[in-house]
Amino acid sequence: MKIIRTIDGVKKEIKKHQGHSIGFVPTMGYFHQGHLSLIEKSKKENDVTVVSIFVNPTQFGPNEDFNRYPRDLQRDEALLKELDVDLLFFPNSTEMYPSGYSTYVEVEAMGKVLCGNSRPTHFKGVATVVLKLFNIVNATIAYFGQKDAQQAILLKRMTTDLNLDTSIKVIPIVRDTDGLALSSRNEYLSIEEREAALHLPRALEKAKRQIEAGLKDAPEIKTLIEKELKKSPLITIDYVEVVTLDKLENFLKNQEGQTVDVNMNNTLVAASVRVGKTRLIDNFILGEI
Ligand code: AMP
Repeated sequence: MKIIRTIDGVKKEIKKHQGHSIGFVPTMGYFHQGHLSLIEKSKKENDVTVVSIFVNPTQFGPNEDFNRYPRDLQRDEALLKELDVDLLFFPNSTEMYPSGYSTYVEVEAMGKVLCGNSRPTHFKGVATVVLKLFNIVNATIAYFGQKDAQQAILLKRMTTDLNLDTSIKVIPIVRDTDGLALSSRNEYLSIEEREAALHLPRALEKAKRQIEAGLKDAPEIKTLIEKELKKSPLITIDYVEVVTLDKLENFLKNQEGQTVDVNMNNTLVAASVRVGKTRLIDNFILGEI
């Protein structure tokens, strides 16, 4: 596996693979099976697989966990070698944002709802770094996790809007045996907090079962999930939302004042909670991203 820290170095290396399909998995490192599932998929579907590890400062707010975000390059490198990844791009912040850097890209409405509500600059940072990475790697397909559904939907919008050549594939959420979605941030949880965190997947699972049994009213689905989450005193709800999968829009009321039923092929049910200081997200979808 080649490890390259410069943008020029990656561009030169990529040029050697002209005519081959390139799969790309952008990450912030500290790998778990969720990351590895994206990489495995890329390996299966492409001639060359490129992974980037970059804890992107522009997607963290001023009071967020940029500095304490977990990092373990040695372990990550070993895992990538085991998976026979071809190239690891591991730039530092000044390589990506040199002095004088001033260009950002924003996917407007989609970046302001759900996670964008409490993290107003987050998706601007995500879209900007992903656009830069796409320009550097010039991949055929880039792989993202459904765990960050809003991110995947917004980035798909960006690739369409900006006529990018890289297409995006979204891979299902990988969970721990107890149901908690794998996340690098699970590392922050104490034993009690981790136990409380399980209310999140359980609440979503309950809602999913209710929908399968016929519950279709978006506010009722939302209330059901909130009620489940409120059973744990350690949980603070950031949001619970039931929105369209393609545009992240609310299911609005019709002229009689009734809410339009959720669309069984176009719905995202997403929630974010804080357990202690740790922010966790999870979701399920009806349809396909
Ligand atoms: P991150 O390192 O957190 O930026 O994540 C890198 C990629 O891995 C993103 O596309 C995430 O959506 C994806 N990812 C993170 N956790 C999971 C998971 N539990 N299951 C599937 N994909 C995931």
